[in-house]
This record gives sequence, structure tokens and C-alpha cells, in this order.
Amino acid sequence: MKWSVVLLFVCVAAAVADESVLAEDCDEELCKLPDCRCSSTNIPGGLAPRDTPQFVTVTFDDGVNNQNILTYREVLYGRKNSNNCPAGATFYVSHEYTNYQFVNELYNQGYEIALHSISHQTPQTYWATASYDALKEEFADQRVLTAHFANIPMDAIKGVRLPFLQMSGDTSFKVMSDFGLVYDCSWITNNYSDPALWPYTLKYKSIQDCVVPPCPTGSIPNTWVQPMVSWTDLNNTKCAMADTCYYIPELDDEAGWFQFILSNFERHYFGNRAPFGYYVHEWYLSTNPAVKAAFMRFLDVINNLSDVFMVNSAEVIDWVKDPVPINQYREKACKSWIPSFCPASSCGNVPATHNQNSYWMQVCNVCPVVYPWLGNPLGLEPATGPPELQ
Ligand SMILES: [Zn+2]
Repeated sequence: MKWSVVLLFVCVAAAVADESVLAEDCDEELCKLPDCRCSSTNIPGGLAPRDTPQFVTVTFDDGVNNQNILTYREVLYGRKNSNNCPAGATFYVSHEYTNYQFVNELYNQGYEIALHSISHQTPQTYWATASYDALKEEFADQRVLTAHFANIPMDAIKGVRLPFLQMSGDTSFKVMSDFGLVYDCSWITNNYSDPALWPYTLKYKSIQDCVVPPCPTGSIPNTWVQPMVSWTDLNNTKCAMADTCYYIPELDDEAGWFQFILSNFERHYFGNRAPFGYYVHEWYLSTNPAVKAAFMRFLDVINNLSDVFMVNSAEVIDWVKDPVPINQYREKACKSWIPSFCPASSCGNVPATHNQNSYWMQVCNVCPVVYPWLGNPLGLEPATGPPELQ
């Protein structure tokens, strides 16, 4: 075969591999739980709102370090829901400067560890246009990296949040589907906040508005969307994360903040009970003590309500797959996890290959040779010599 013909074949094959089948309108008769759900504001299982557990998902983004772990311990540790099960929260961890001994600690406290990329790099357009291979290195490899250095099970890592909530069309979802990641929690909805959108799968076309394009349009079975339902600020403007709302109570007004959080919660609680997300960065709480106090007061309230449950985000997907009414849900066993020992190493002066820095790393494994990064998530000895010999 001539080279040009071979090349043509390679190009066509690559194009086909890259193109997903355009999703069709969702047919509720064909798309059924537990593996398929149309995008909709309907309560799963056709439950009435009063029979539906109101889930609250608290999430924190970015690196875990010796500053923000103090807030996590103060705000979260020891909380229980009214069914006496430990309350959950989800950490979308980015790799750089993360202390993996603290990631191990969070896992052992029952919180969920999820993925927020290895590089978290700018510009934001990098994420909008990232290739399949780039996102495979950012997320699938980050799962391997995190499991290894935090010494936690790979299977426990199920969720993805793209940096800057910048969607990348079908690409991130294709990577998730190919590597067994369960759900994404990056996709903002402003239009479906009252009533709010419940989680759904991507086998069929989504009705969700695309706030940060490009959003997925392909049919990607097996992947769940956990919509980021926007809050409404004091001027009726939508905001995806609590720390991005603009018209807000004064930052030292604890009572005002408590009311602000509560009024957003009540839109869900007195509505269709779609999961209520409290999405925030730790720095916002630690630099605004009144906001932190209001947040803790809000958690104290919901932890005492018999129909509200503060859970890991993955637990919401589990419930949607098998939606049982509150009275049955309260009877269920609490989530369980196997505590994972941390064989701790402090690694000084770990040289990077992607920049001129060297890093200090706290891990639950042996120290890496170089700083783990894209293409080398375990930080192994870089191959040397001419590329053709590698
Ligand atoms: Zn981030």
C-alpha cells in the first residue's frame, strides 16, 4: 500500500474515533433506571416531594493543603445526619501542591475524593478545546496518581469537575466513559433551577442550557451529569458557586448570610427536592468568618431535619439509580468504607520536569523520583536517551 493511502486510512479512523453519535431526543420508554435517565425536573421513581430525601452536596475544589485542611476539620468533621449516618462532602482535588496525607485523612473520614485535573492550567480555553489524550492525562491518569499517593482505592474515585467549570463538549465525558468514571459535576444550569434539574445520563439529548460552551451533544451512555444548579443572588442573578454570587449580604453579616443560604435551599426543599449544592472554595470561608459561621449554622439546621441528608455526591447518583422513599432510605445502612492506612513519606526537593521548580510532597507511599505530572502520573524516572530508543 502506498503511504498516502495508509495515511488516509489513519486519518479516517482517527476522525471516526473522535466523532460521537449525535444524541437523539430522550424517550422515557427506552431510557430507564438504573442505567439511563432522561434529563428532567421530574423526581426519580415518580415519588412525591414529601417522600423524597432532600440531598445536600457540599463540595470544595482545588489542592488540599495544611491551611485548608484546618477549615475542613473545623467545619465538617464529626457531623451526622438525623439518621445517625456520617454526613458527607466531596473534594474535587487538583494535583499541584496537594498534600496526599490529608487526602488520605479526608477519605478515612468518609468524604469523597474526586478529580479536578492534574494541571488546572490556564488559559481557560485549554479546557474548552482539549483533546481526548490531554483529558485522559488530566483525569484518568489523575485517578491513578491520587489512588497511589493517597493510598486509597481507585474505585472510590468516581467524579470529575473541570477547572473553571469549562466544559469540553463530548471529550471529557468520553474519557470518563472509557475509564469507568461515573459522573461529572461541572455543568451549570441557570434555566432549570426552579424547578431544578435532577441528575441524568447522557445516552440521549440533554435539555440542559449551556452556560459555558461547548457542552456535550453526543450519545455517551454510562456517564451521569450531576447538574450544578445555580443559586439566585439578592438581585435575582444566577451564580453557580456560592463564592461567585455578586449581589450578596455584607461579608460580615452572619444573619444575612444564613438567610441567603436558607432561601436558596428552600427553593429545592419546598420544590421538587432536586439535590441542593453548596459549592464553595475554602478560602472564601476562611477569609470571611461570618460566612463560615452562617454556613456552619446552616449545616447544624439541616443535620437535624429528618428529611434532609448531607451526603457525598456519588451517594446522590446511587439514590437516583434506586430511588426509595425517605422512610426506606432512613432504614438503610450507612455508607461504608475500608479505612486505609497511610505509609507516610515526606519528600523534599522533588524535581519537576514540566517547569524549573522542585516540590515538597507529603504522600502515603514511597517518594516519586520526579514530581508527578501529565504523562508521568507516578513520577517515575524519566526515560533518557534519544526518543527512538525509549
Ligand atoms: Zn479549581
